Amino acid sequence: MMITMIRSAGSRLAIWAALFGMLTCLPALSTAASTPLAVVATTPAMGALVRSIGGEHVEVTVLGPADRDLHRLQARPSMMRALRDADLLVSVGAELEVGWLPAAVRGAGNPRLTAGDGLFEAAAQVPLLGAGAPADRSLGDVHPSGNPHFHLDPQRFVQAGRALAARLTQLAPHQSAAFAAGAETLAATVAERMPAWQRLAARSRPVLQYHADADYLLDRFQIDSLGYIEPLPGVPPRASHLAGLVTALQARQGVIVRAAYQPSQPTRRLRSQLGWPVLVLNPEPATDAGLAGYLALIEHWLGALAESDRGRR
Ligand SMILES: [Zn+2]
Repeated sequence: MMITMIRSAGSRLAIWAALFGMLTCLPALSTAASTPLAVVATTPAMGALVRSIGGEHVEVTVLGPADRDLHRLQARPSMMRALRDADLLVSVGAELEVGWLPAAVRGAGNPRLTAGDGLFEAAAQVPLLGAGAPADRSLGDVHPSGNPHFHLDPQRFVQAGRALAARLTQLAPHQSAAFAAGAETLAATVAERMPAWQRLAARSRPVLQYHADADYLLDRFQIDSLGYIEPLPGVPPRASHLAGLVTALQARQGVIVRAAYQPSQPTRRLRSQLGWPVLVLNPEPATDAGLAGYLALIEHWLGALAESDRGRR
């Protein structure tokens, strides 16, 4: 009896020891399984891409505000703080952020973002319009590597999403099914909405943009482009350039599009001389946008363009 009790106490001890070992291991395992990846996105559109694919498995910080020219930000201490602890930096690339992101990354001193899997450039995952065309940054052209504003093309957005799912899987292999499902949901939702979007696009007037923000939208939905108010991407127009636009376009019917942060004076002048409506449409979704915010952005643009033929605004 005594021996049995001792044995029994010994085995209880062993069981408790085993349980204790499991319990001390469990928090580490569950942390590894549930801690979201810390992802820094340079723009609201990239934030929406990351949230679309990563869902609850990513914690996203967006560096660039939705209402600013993303070519012309400055590296700030708050950006460096966000980058310091990031597992992954998702940028547009194609030199969109060349004026501020390298300095912010240097200031952050996070080796994960400068080597290996920690940097994802979305524009490198899709074919770019204007890539390989002659361009010179010394003349002020801010698109020397091609047009970086690909995200208003939902198909390229899907393509970048698939590549991002693969990268997130490298960083958090145990969530691969969730990332693949995010990419599939994005692709399926875009495919489902394309016919309605195409019907809206068919009603648009030809578009004159201030900057080449919507080239990919116009190209995807076969909306005529009448060019740009800027003589080169990033270069403000002179009066002589505006006069040339009026001469070239006065026999046409179009709509003028600018973002709220782009100058209103040139568009006002063209509106009065051409008699065309002006739409103020921002190319970025809200800073906290996910898939729904991205879809709403595409809908907002196409809806506004469809209404552009209802007379002067
Ligand atoms: Zn640009």
